Amino acid sequence: MLNPITGKEGTVFGLIRKRREELLQLADALIACDTTTRRGRGEEAPRDEEKIQRILAEQLESMGAQADLWEPEPIRPDNRYFKEAIDFRGRPQLLATVKGAGGGRTLLLNGHIDVVTAEPLDKWSVDPFRGTVKDGLLYGRGACDMKGPLAAIVFALKMLKEAGVRLRGDVVFCSNTDEESTGVGGYACALRGLYADGGISGEPSGFDLWVACRGGYYATVGIPGRAGHAEMPHRHWRAGGAVNPIDKLPLVLDAVRRLREDWRLRPDKQHPLLSGGDIVVTMVKAGVWEATLPSECELAMGVFFSPHEVDTSGSGAHVRREVEEQINKAAAADPWLASHPLRWKWSTETYPAQVDAREAIVEITQQVAHELRRAGRIAGLDSWHDAATFTKFAGIPTISFGPPDLEHAHTVDESVPVDDLVDYAAAIAMIAMRFCSVVDS
Ligand SMILES: [Zn+2]
Repeated sequence: MLNPITGKEGTVFGLIRKRREELLQLADALIACDTTTRRGRGEEAPRDEEKIQRILAEQLESMGAQADLWEPEPIRPDNRYFKEAIDFRGRPQLLATVKGAGGGRTLLLNGHIDVVTAEPLDKWSVDPFRGTVKDGLLYGRGACDMKGPLAAIVFALKMLKEAGVRLRGDVVFCSNTDEESTGVGGYACALRGLYADGGISGEPSGFDLWVACRGGYYATVGIPGRAGHAEMPHRHWRAGGAVNPIDKLPLVLDAVRRLREDWRLRPDKQHPLLSGGDIVVTMVKAGVWEATLPSECELAMGVFFSPHEVDTSGSGAHVRREVEEQINKAAAADPWLASHPLRWKWSTETYPAQVDAREAIVEITQQVAHELRRAGRIAGLDSWHDAATFTKFAGIPTISFGPPDLEHAHTVDESVPVDDLVDYAAAIAMIAMRFCSVVDS
């Protein structure tokens, strides 16, 4: 393909293509670090998180950036975003600022360093902890989600410098832990006094712009019963007889189904870029012994809502209330449940976010994607991602924009096309030049 980009941007693009080997080397060095995300909420020993952050910090410092590598204090349990304190020992966060000449906008470039487990290892055709290039694809855990994009971001900044491009605005590079688990890494960074006029997180969006995501809650609902021998007849429950809570499960599931159907059609539950409001039952648990009627049946559910549904404090608490009220009402039609109500326990709350399509970061990114003949659609991701944290808690309109593609993220033999990764580096360099402005030579 002809290089469609001209002028100074064309020079940078040419350099990025010519020196793509350096991008692949950096990606390999990042993939080689085992930064498998932790399952638990604190006790799991750190892996190579510090090592990878030092590699990134050194790269950025060699460009003259000021690096801030720190282990945040544990996130306090009284924070309503996370219920338990999460420890960061051995899991530092990195902020590195490449100072501009002044007079331009500040750009945030973000990526998470953690990856999901590479298990089952024996299913991989390559070593998941090496960046292997085969048939035009870069393989390895994190190739697209998102050590490849992280390498491309750092490489793009390096090539800007090598091409002698001086930006007016600052570039703030931020790499964080714990995106794949709890989201606390990005949150800790957002609380670090982070400032920028717009941000990009390099999630594998396939060159689309994810400007919106849904918020959500998770709940466990206990359906009360009364234990008893399974092989015996029982008196009426009012006379103290046993009650099998599994028999009450269809009633609750049916109430969930009806509410979902209502939401599917209700105008206030629709969103142009997202799937809209939904309730998904994810776990059902009951019973301790085959011959015993259980004393409780518990189900877990996720409740999801769109950015426009939040109240003035930014919370979706009223969505949660509606779910609880409607399902309680349906359950109360059963005399046992009317006098033994469902037991609700709400846990994680994630906030929805949306960046206005008129924001400069959106307009410039879309323009650049189109000039590189990439899709560049304004889109949303139903699920939460770090960009939402920066938008919500640092006040920086942040979108996710990265190479292809989400379908290869978290998979066995995760990969990214090398040409796409190179184009992504070019896109980042061009966005930085347009967003931060360039000092005329
Ligand atoms: Zn990711």
